[in-house]
Amino acid sequence: MRKIEIFDSTLRDGEQAPGFSMNLAEKLSMARMLQALNVDVIDAGFAACSQGDYACVKTIADEIKGICVASLCRCVETDCDIAWNAVKSAEKPLLNIFIATSDLHITQKLHSSREEVLETVGRVVAYARALCPEIEFSAEDATRTDREFLLKVFQTALDNGASVLNIADTVGYIQPEELKELIKYIRGGLSSYKEYKLSVHCHNDLGLATANTLAAIEAGADRVDCTVNGIGERAGNASLEEVVMSLRTRKEYYGCDTGINTKLIVPASRKLVMLTGVKVQANKAVVGKNAFAHESGIHVHGMVADRRTYEIIDPEDIGLTESRIIMGKHSGRHALEDRLAVLGFNNLNQLQMDALFEKFKLLAEAKKIVSDKDIEALVKAEILDYMGEYRLDKYIINSGNVLSNTCNIRIVKSDGTAFEGFATGEGPIDAAYNAINDALGTDAKLLDYMIESVTGGTDAQGAVSVKVSLDDKVVKGYGVNVNIFEASISAYLNAINNS
Ligand code: MN
Repeated sequence: MRKIEIFDSTLRDGEQAPGFSMNLAEKLSMARMLQALNVDVIDAGFAACSQGDYACVKTIADEIKGICVASLCRCVETDCDIAWNAVKSAEKPLLNIFIATSDLHITQKLHSSREEVLETVGRVVAYARALCPEIEFSAEDATRTDREFLLKVFQTALDNGASVLNIADTVGYIQPEELKELIKYIRGGLSSYKEYKLSVHCHNDLGLATANTLAAIEAGADRVDCTVNGIGERAGNASLEEVVMSLRTRKEYYGCDTGINTKLIVPASRKLVMLTGVKVQANKAVVGKNAFAHESGIHVHGMVADRRTYEIIDPEDIGLTESRIIMGKHSGRHALEDRLAVLGFNNLNQLQMDALFEKFKLLAEAKKIVSDKDIEALVKAEILDYMGEYRLDKYIINSGNVLSNTCNIRIVKSDGTAFEGFATGEGPIDAAYNAINDALGTDAKLLDYMIESVTGGTDAQGAVSVKVSLDDKVVKGYGVNVNIFEASISAYLNAINNS
């Protein structure tokens, strides 16, 4: 059976989309999930784009072994130098060099000519190949490019050392049958005196990213670009779970498969939601909340008789398992570690595990039954706050409708210095946030505040997400606690720690 490689762009194209930005700790945490999912390539970022991106690519290359780590670069030597410095510590480094090839992009965006583009591709690919053993060349807007010119560009990239040629449907324009034709044309036209892989990068502007990706596979693509939950610029990229489960569910039709550990599909989807705070639409294929929900009478009747009447995927195959294990205050550390592994969190270090177990015990005391969602929320808070410089020590909030709202707070810095603050406010949260600013001498401003109950029940944990502006930067924070005031304080401190 033919194996299709998955090039995962969740941390690059996905992260580039509005509202999906992740910091270094969050990206590393997601990269570990992608590694466990067993993707073939992690697109770690665009190293030359910013110092932050560079640090993320470098950290992922340093930490994630046994897997190919890629950095995107524009078709210029300096980008290749920076990207190479960032990825060279990877076990299998890859430079993914792109340039637009459609006349529209060449004239309007690059203010260049076809001849100049061809020359640049040859020169830069050869330059990059001298640095890095594996080069992918991506033709941006390839699907709106003159076919003969695209072939020439690919031949030039191939001749100068690229081993992967990527057809980017940058604006989600092509139709499935058309893409099949294009792939056959390219395959047939390239003089393939050496081995190379063809790959596709499909966008979802017309809702066709998955269909186009599958069509490309049928036409002989070796590698496909995907993102978890289909996140990405504008309408997103081809969704990893849809492509992978199409190939798996219709194996006899496609005759190919991926190396993805499908049991981690749901955990990976949830983890991304947890890290970005952006939910998946309820009716999203494979990972939406309703993807396996049955309500209408006829359907439920069928499901009871035989699950296969209305389900083509066994929920267990994608890791959608309702926990029948009850976690509570008698559960030990091993039970927690086991549960974390099932939920896809198997890479926490000792310090994080210690802190997490402490919080777990406190929570189990407070609310008797601890659900998977509770555990996920705790892990998220722990991952995000792991390197936090400031920690909450204690606080007192006075609130009511017959007195002014006040907060006294004591915050401890990692070096042991304590900061005390006091403030009043319009309400308890306002008072608490003013008190934090008073204690730390900061001028942080709250831009957005959201609170959500992690589970049902009045003893549920409250999960607070905030956006705070501090020193001209906008930072996110997250906190979780059965006491919503404390969750709010943690979220604000987490944001300050992230600034
Ligand atoms: Mn893209």
